[in-house]
Amino acid sequence: MTRAAQGDPIDTASKMEMIPDPSEEFLDAFSGGSAGIIVECDFCGRVYFSTSDHGDYEEGELESLRANAEKEPDGCIEVDYFTSRVEVDGKTYAYGCKCNKVRRYEDFIWLHRREILAYIKARMEKRLKAAKEDMEIARGALTAAKLSEDEAEGERELLRKLLKKYPDESRVHHYIMGERTDIAGRTLGEKTP
Ligand SMILES: [Zn+2]
Repeated sequence: MTRAAQGDPIDTASKMEMIPDPSEEFLDAFSGGSAGIIVECDFCGRVYFSTSDHGDYEEGELESLRANAEKEPDGCIEVDYFTSRVEVDGKTYAYGCKCNKVRRYEDFIWLHRREILAYIKARMEKRLKAAKEDMEIARGALTAAKLSEDEAEGERELLRKLLKKYPDESRVHHYIMGERTDIAGRTLGEKTP
């Protein structure tokens, strides 16, 4: 079964409606750089297949596509370029497809551009506010970390003094190991028994 046969029946009514082309700007903005040798337009079911490179077709696939094109020239269309996929509303529109069915999305965006820009601004401001709050929290955490770093430096400074005063390193080692009462109260400065 070919892609043309799998797709929705061709909506001939759309041809009659004479929907204007979507703009290049709109198509480029939504195409995201993806293109293929066979692209089916989800909006109308037309299949565009490229003959600019035969390498990627499975055996007999191109012949089958050409046979479909012969049978249904408006549903299966041979082109000499890779067709870009334009992703709109969860569906793929084949770039340049004559159904032009993405045009209404563009019309909606363009017609409501002021409202849309106001909406985007409001959403962005909300996100920016949340980001600023997160930054404040992060800054607070950094300050706390800096304080404990200062405290650690205070400890090291004390140890340096102790080492200088009491060159018996094992005593200071006790201090480092956390046996502070022993060191500070009685043992420190005494000779090891
Ligand atoms: Zn189409």
